[in-house]
Parts: sequence; C-alpha cells; structure tokens
Amino acid sequence: MKAVLFRAHGGPEVLEYTDFPTPEPKPGEALIRLHAAALNRMDVLVRNGWPGLKLELPHINGADGAGEIVAIDSPLPEGEGLGVRVGDRVVINANLGCGSCEFCLEGKDNLCANWHLLGETVRGTYAEYVAVPIKQLYKLPKDFDYHSAAAAALVYQTAWHSLVRRGNLQRDETVLIVGAGGGVNTASVQIAKYIGAQVIVVGSEAKKLQMAKSIGADILIDRSKEADWSKSVFLATNKRGVDVVVDNVGATFMQSLRTLRKGGRLLTVGNSAGPKFEIDNRYIFAKHLSILGSTMSTLGEFKEVMDLVINGKLQPTMDKTYPLQDAASAQERLWKHENFGKITLDIL
Ligand SMILES: [Zn+2]
Repeated sequence: MKAVLFRAHGGPEVLEYTDFPTPEPKPGEALIRLHAAALNRMDVLVRNGWPGLKLELPHINGADGAGEIVAIDSPLPEGEGLGVRVGDRVVINANLGCGSCEFCLEGKDNLCANWHLLGETVRGTYAEYVAVPIKQLYKLPKDFDYHSAAAAALVYQTAWHSLVRRGNLQRDETVLIVGAGGGVNTASVQIAKYIGAQVIVVGSEAKKLQMAKSIGADILIDRSKEADWSKSVFLATNKRGVDVVVDNVGATFMQSLRTLRKGGRLLTVGNSAGPKFEIDNRYIFAKHLSILGSTMSTLGEFKEVMDLVINGKLQPTMDKTYPLQDAASAQERLWKHENFGKITLDIL
C-alpha cells in the first residue's frame, strides 16, 4: 500500500510518501480501505517525538480515518459487534481500550489500564489501509462524506466527554472557550450550543472569531486587543464569572481561573502552548474551583456523539483537504494554527 511514514523523529521533512506492507487483520479486527484521514496536533507531537516515547519505526501518523471494510478476521459473535460486514462504510474510533481490564469492563475504556491511541503508539491512518478492532468502528450511512466523518471522530468524542461527562455542562450555564480555531475548540462551541449554554470565545484573530460566531459563539473577545482578557470575560458576565472554562492552551490557565465564578469548573484535554506553566493555588481553594482533565471518550459516548453528527445536529467544521502525499504541508498548516476546524487528507 501507499503510506506516509517516518523512519526517525524530526520536522515535516521526515515524512515520506512510499510503499509499505498492507496490514493483515488479526482475530476480531477489520481491514479498512481508507478514503479520508483527519489531522490532529498529536500527529505532529508524535512525529517530533518526546523522551520516553517508544515506537516501532517506521511509524505511520493518524488517529482519524474513514473508509470501507475490505476484510474481516473472525467477526465478533452476534450481539457483540456492531453488525458490520465487508463493504460497509465506517469511521474509526482511535481510543483503543483493551476490552478486558477493570475499566474497560465498566465501559470506561478511555481509562483503560493498557490504553493505546491509534496513530500514537500503533500505526495510524495516513495510509491506504489500516487494521483495527471491529469494536472501534461506527457504521456510516451510504451518503455520508468520509472526510466529515474522519474530521468528526476524535474531536467530537473528546469535547463531548469533557463538556458533557466531566464538566456536566447545563443549558442555563455560560462556558468560556479559550482559542477560536482548533478542532476540539470548534467542536466544543457546537456541543455547548447544542446543550443550550451561552458561549464566550477568546481568540487572537478577527477572522477566526467571526468563524466561531458563524458556528454559534455568542460573545467574542479579541485577546490581541486586550492583554487581560479575563477582565473582559468577567464584565461580559455582569461580574458574575463563567460556570465552565474550556482551556486546552495551558499557559492561559491563570486567566481562565480568574474568569470562573466560585465553584466553577476548568476543563482541559490538552496544552497547545506546552505542558508546563505556573498557577496560583489560592484561586483553586478560595474559589472552590475544579480542574477536570480527560482525554478521548468511551465507546458508548463515541456512538452517542457520532449519532448526532450523522443526524446533522453537530456539523464538523472543515478547513482544508490535502492529497495524502502532501501530509507534511498539511501538518505545517495545523502546527502554525493557520486552520479553522479540521484538516483532512484525501486517500485515493
Ligand atoms: Zn482496558
């Protein structure tokens, strides 16, 4: 098969469009002929590498993908699988729970003791084919676009688990989303509006803020014009403070904590500005704040949120599509925050 792989960690130049053996499905797995893959910032982090990351090289990036089942090895017994068969159109859930540890057995497979993420520790979707366990598949209707499906999978389940399960966001609440352009943040705006909450978005570019408005944001704050945007958020809530903050930047935590009302919740699923920063603990205890971290979602939540996508209740925000062989340019666009919404790869 054709794939984009890397043989050593490094910049975009290490990505190589080349031939690689087509994977063979193991028992309980399906072989998918991919038509679309979607990018996530994690792809670039994996490509760059970090201390302690052990990969079997060459590695193939990519957590998100959608395509057609071309082979199945020993399907799951009736009732356990999703009833998928060869020829079905599917989208992949990249959250790989082992299915047998105490957490997976409780249906909390993103807490899996033997957890893996497709494209991170196992080879991913920047390829013509990928083999994944059948339980990771969600069947698509025949007219649903592969690119939209691939774009939806990781970000919607991540935002859904964080806002709905961890954050318990309610319809009469106000949520602040820090950052206007990224995939999880655009998904968060839409999910918060779907729940009925009021949404404030802080961003640094007028164009991206207007795009956030077009997908439902109620109040926009341009941080390029206001260094201390926490004050603007506070004033926008009539000095009450917001109920929930979605902060996947990290370096902005102190400002985010300032915007919260007493008893508010800060939700985080990442740190786009780097993993280490300082916070003042007095804000946490004196304001009764909760900091709630999470990553990905459960199999049940994945189905729940993909049903909303398929029914048009949530519409993935699409940025730009590149041919598979131009994955390096696609990653550059993502890494430089030039995108609004999801970047996908077209796999012919
Ligand atoms: Zn497990």
